[in-house]
Amino acid sequence: MNGLQQKKKFNIRLIPLYVIYAAACTFFFVKLVNLQITGTDRYVKTMSLTHEREVVVQSLRGEIYDRNGAPLVTNEYTESLQLDYASVPRDTTEKNEALTSVISVLAKNGVEIETVMPVKGTYPHIEYDNEALKSTSVQNGMYRFLLYHNIKTGVSCLDLYEELLKEFKLLDEDGEHIYDTATEDALIRLLYSLDATNFAPGNPYPLMADADLKLTTAVLESGCKGVFIKKNYTRVYGYPGVGSNIIGRVGKIPENKMQDYLAKGYSYDAVVGLDGAEAAFEDILRGEDGITVYVEDDYGNVIETYVKKEAVPGKNVYLTIDIDLQAAAEKELEAQIKAIRRSALDSGVENSGEKADSGALTVVSVSTGQVLALASYPTYDLTTFSKDYAELSTNPAKPLFDRAVSGTYQPGSTFKIATAVAALMSRTITPDKTINDTGQYKFYPDYQPWCWLKSGHGPVDLVEAIGVSCNYYFYETGRLTGIDALNKYSKQLGLGEYTGIELPESKGVLAGPEYRESVGKRWYSGDTLAAAIGQSDNSFTPLQLSSYIATAINGGTRYKSTILLKTCNYSGGEEENNAPQVLGTVDIDEECLQTIKSGMKRSKEITSTTKGYKFSVGTKTGTAQTSQTNNNAVFVAFAPYDNPEIALSCVIENGASGINGAAPVLGTISYYYHLDKNGNPLKD
Ligand SMILES: [Zn+2]
Repeated sequence: MNGLQQKKKFNIRLIPLYVIYAAACTFFFVKLVNLQITGTDRYVKTMSLTHEREVVVQSLRGEIYDRNGAPLVTNEYTESLQLDYASVPRDTTEKNEALTSVISVLAKNGVEIETVMPVKGTYPHIEYDNEALKSTSVQNGMYRFLLYHNIKTGVSCLDLYEELLKEFKLLDEDGEHIYDTATEDALIRLLYSLDATNFAPGNPYPLMADADLKLTTAVLESGCKGVFIKKNYTRVYGYPGVGSNIIGRVGKIPENKMQDYLAKGYSYDAVVGLDGAEAAFEDILRGEDGITVYVEDDYGNVIETYVKKEAVPGKNVYLTIDIDLQAAAEKELEAQIKAIRRSALDSGVENSGEKADSGALTVVSVSTGQVLALASYPTYDLTTFSKDYAELSTNPAKPLFDRAVSGTYQPGSTFKIATAVAALMSRTITPDKTINDTGQYKFYPDYQPWCWLKSGHGPVDLVEAIGVSCNYYFYETGRLTGIDALNKYSKQLGLGEYTGIELPESKGVLAGPEYRESVGKRWYSGDTLAAAIGQSDNSFTPLQLSSYIATAINGGTRYKSTILLKTCNYSGGEEENNAPQVLGTVDIDEECLQTIKSGMKRSKEITSTTKGYKFSVGTKTGTAQTSQTNNNAVFVAFAPYDNPEIALSCVIENGASGINGAAPVLGTISYYYHLDKNGNPLKD
């Protein structure tokens, strides 16, 4: 078929549409003529067609609480009085009458309507308000107004006013003023403002923000036409500046996501979660918008309204976060980062922590995967976000980046727990396997790494090797275990795997042939030695680290990380718990469990910073070299030792040494268990 034939056929198919269109035009033409010639009230009533206009009523967004019911994000309601375009009569005289009654009802209640006309004084003693005219929006409004009414720019204030008296029909046939001076002035200012702000369907005019109940009741009872009360809500933050990375922001739909939201039934001006829990639980918090129908006559007068669909509020979300613990973790982390930097600067020793400026601290439940705290430093305050944005977005320490779930860091020696599990459970070694550390590991002729203690630790067993963090022991153990078994157990422990948390998380990298080949490189036997002590390509998020310790220490059950505890109805009923989910299991027998626990207890007892801490915990340090001169501090722990409930991790960028991560972790444990800084019970 050629193009011409196609076109012809297309045209033929269109014929019935022409007929309908022509009939419709004729109908409306006849109606128009009738109305103009014989447009009496009676006729309008009998001929009038009504049409319906649907207006979306936004649902209330669910609120957010912490695990103990502390309010993190709640709604605060305000009511504003607005003038609805559709409800204001089109006819100039009727319109003036309707607006006069609005002005009078509000005036009786002591409300002066907010207007934008840049004119001072009362007719005829009036002049332009030059102060108001400095505002670009006032200038633009005036420009729009003059254009709309075909009035020359540069018109004098008095000429403008007198022009408007005629234009708005505020003079009678004899040229006398219809209204008293005060009413006339108020009316002109309001009529001017409506046009200057483009009052139109869907663009109501705000008469007054923050109206109180007494006023809204008075307005409703007066029955004046066109005024409606709009309920607005704003998000109120119960703990400003705490847990901002977890809670997140709400705002207008970002341009690049507009199509997705529209497809889900959102309106253009909807408010949605932008990040954190607000975005993660959007579908729960959102609710369902309602629809109110306005039935209008030919003149655009509203003759009836009805609710087509009631708005359903969103559900409330309870996070697993303990907001007080979160605040304590954030405080401990910040204090330690500042202390490391101060002490390094005071000492004058180069590369001893003077560049420490950021980090993360995480706390998870060992037996459920619930996240209790997720601190990232530096951070921000949701209540001043917009004001602070310029500073936040350019700060080199990246306060908007959630290090706890998105940052990836070399684990350093905290990885040795995974190597121990792999070596024991693959039956490569037994816990009492003793290796004689002579300082330099010389198995491979071309790669002979050193223990961190160059003189060597001498003969050590596994518990001692974890305790003193002997590299030599884990070089040998890693080599004997092999990269395949090491990778298998590490993966099962969740290293380099998504934790499942509802926030945007990084996957991290587990060092091994799989990753190396994915980037087009080769894995060498010697790489296994580095991998076994947490070096090589290993890189994990702080949350992965605490989750991995939780999995090892609970005997091998890997729970999905979550920040969702439960949901309930907006009014509080119908609670729905988010049950713990198991992502996988690791074969860890009792002997293996006791060995790694003992090693972590020994680890705590070895360093001066942690051995004075009286509460019984297990710990492991990691010092990860990030450059020739800088190390990150990495620290993991679980508590209490005998019956572990929580696992923690801390990373401090450029924190110099793993043990520098100890103080904020122990401080957070102390807060959680009501202990003093030395781990002794607080006296009430
Ligand atoms: Zn050693």
